Amino acid sequence: MLSIVDLHKSYGTTTALDGVSLDVRPGELVGFVGANGAGKSTTMRIAMGLVAADSGTVRWHGEPLTFTARRRFGYMPEERGLYPKMRVVEQVAYFGRLHGMSRADADRGAAALIEQMGVVAQPRDFVQALSLGNQQRVQLAAALVHDPELLVLDEPFSGLDPVGVDTMAEVLRQRRRAGCGVLFSSHQLELVERLCDRVVIVRAGRVVAQGTLDELRATG
Ligand code: ADP
Ligand code: ADP
Repeated sequence: MLSIVDLHKSYGTTTALDGVSLDVRPGELVGFVGANGAGKSTTMRIAMGLVAADSGTVRWHGEPLTFTARRRFGYMPEERGLYPKMRVVEQVAYFGRLHGMSRADADRGAAALIEQMGVVAQPRDFVQALSLGNQQRVQLAAALVHDPELLVLDEPFSGLDPVGVDTMAEVLRQRRRAGCGVLFSSHQLELVERLCDRVVIVRAGRVVAQGTLDELRATG
C-alpha cells in the first residue's frame, strides 16, 4: 500500500537519507530499526508530508501521495504532539475530528480507545496531569481514532513500562488483523522480533537489510 522509493535528503552538509526504499503492505507490521541518527524519523516525516525529500517518491496504492490520501494515515511523531491543556477524551476526539470524523463518532471512538489502551486517567483530567507513560498511550489513541489504513509510529514504545508495551503491542496486532499496515521505528530489537512481520534496517541513511526475521537470520 505504501511504497517509498529511493529517498534522498540532506540538511546542509549532513546527509540524512541516501537512498531509502521500503514498502508496507496491508496487514503487515514492519519494524524500522537503526541507531540514533540513521534516518528513521526523517523517512517517516517525508512519508507524512512534513518534510520535503530532495529526491525520491512516496506512493500510496501506486499513486502519488495526496493530502486526502494522508488523512487515511495515523501518525505518532517522535516529538509528541499533545495539547497539555486539553482533557484526555477531548484530546483524542480532537484528532478524530481533524481527520473528518463527526463529533459523536470521535467522542465515542476516543472513549473506547482510551479504555482499551488502559490509560489511567479520568476523562476530565488534563493531558499535562498524566504520567509520561499515560501520555504516550493517549498519543497512540490519537493516531488510531479515525481507524487509519496505515500507521506510521515513531518510537511508539520508548519509555513505556512492560504492561504498557504489552497493551500497545496487542492493539497493534489487532489493527494488523483488521488489515491496517503498520510501520514503526524502534531501537529495541527484542520488541521488533516479537512483533514484526518484516524488518527494515537502516544505517547512515541507507537500508542495509530488509526481510522477515527468518530471512535476515539466514543471511546473518
Ligand atoms: P533517526 O530517526 O534514525 O534517529 P533522523 O532521521 O532523526 O534519524 O536523523 C538523520 C540525520 O539527519 C541525523 O544526522 C540528524 O541529525 C539529521 N537531521 C534530522 N533532522 C534534521 C534537521 N531538521 N536539521 C538538521 N539535521 C537533521
Ligand atoms: P531523532 O533521532 O529520532 O529524530 P533527533 O535528535 O535527530 O531525534 O531530532 C530531534 C529533533 O531535532 C527533530 O525535530 C529533528 O528534525 C531535529 N534535528 C535533529 N538533528 C538536527 C540538527 N543537526 N540540526 C537541527 N535540527 C536537528
